[in-house]
Amino acid sequence: MSLDRLRVLHDRGPAAAHGVAGHPESPARLAAVLDALERDPDLAGLSLAAAAPVDPAVVGRVHTAAHIRAIEVAAARGGGWIDTDTYCTAGSARAALHAVGAAVTGMGQVLDGTAGAALALVRPPGHHATADRAMGFCLFNNAAIAVRSAQVESGVARVAIIDIDVHHGNGTQDIFYDDPAVLYCSLHQWPLYPGSGLAAETGGQGAPGATVNCPLDPGSGDAEWLAAFDAAVAPAVRQHRPELLVVSAGYDAHAADPLAGLRLSTGAYHAIALRVAALAGELCGGRSLWVLEGGYDLPALAASVDNTVRALAGLPALPAPPPAGPPPPR
Ligand SMILES: [Zn+2]
Repeated sequence: MSLDRLRVLHDRGPAAAHGVAGHPESPARLAAVLDALERDPDLAGLSLAAAAPVDPAVVGRVHTAAHIRAIEVAAARGGGWIDTDTYCTAGSARAALHAVGAAVTGMGQVLDGTAGAALALVRPPGHHATADRAMGFCLFNNAAIAVRSAQVESGVARVAIIDIDVHHGNGTQDIFYDDPAVLYCSLHQWPLYPGSGLAAETGGQGAPGATVNCPLDPGSGDAEWLAAFDAAVAPAVRQHRPELLVVSAGYDAHAADPLAGLRLSTGAYHAIALRVAALAGELCGGRSLWVLEGGYDLPALAASVDNTVRALAGLPALPAPPPAGPPPPR
């Protein structure tokens, strides 16, 4: 699609207050991503907009009142650690409401035709958050709330979520496990945090086949990843006949990522976006919403998101960097 059919929603301002020194899920991530998009001369004219926060009632479409209250109270007290790797700061509740706001606004723009595809570039990420629990750097499940909002506000029935983060999105799977209307597909490294995502997890009672897990061995690269997508994810999405696609867009399967051991190239994210765009074009009028999850090597994250946008806009991939090796002799 043309560049003017894309929308980027972000929470750069509020998300800057959600950070702890030395933690990989840092404000520098979103700054790097938005910088890359703003500096790519081929993306001049791309619509980037700050998102408004949602009312907590919107978060309540997925999360329990007790969970929402716990985040509000933790932030009001100045923050602290929710578990060994998930933090909350004084600004985290506000940031989380803006992150959800970006996802829900992007969803609305895709559904009302304002945009062909939208990207919610947000922090904190969401796919580990369950209905009643923050975990894995995630407070509210941005993608899941956008899906529920599409169902509640726009009468959308069938949605497919494709989770490309290197970690299994246990929260998203859990939220939709018994819902036959929402297909959840995940490609992830296994074994790895959080430990769920076995191929045998295929959906709960009343929703057989509505969960598709593709665990990949550590060290798997572009070929293995794309083969799993083509063999398992694409057929399941076709069979589901969704009205729109939602991508939980984590970039920590990149070879440079410090938190995991898959070996995707920057160019793979262009190939992935082309595949998703082709499925969306075939099945649901091209409609897709991309919600940022992980990705912790800043240059790899920034270039890979750039490649996602380039693919959606019909632009070629960024030139691949030269292979690493010894410096040339003088
Ligand atoms: Zn991740």
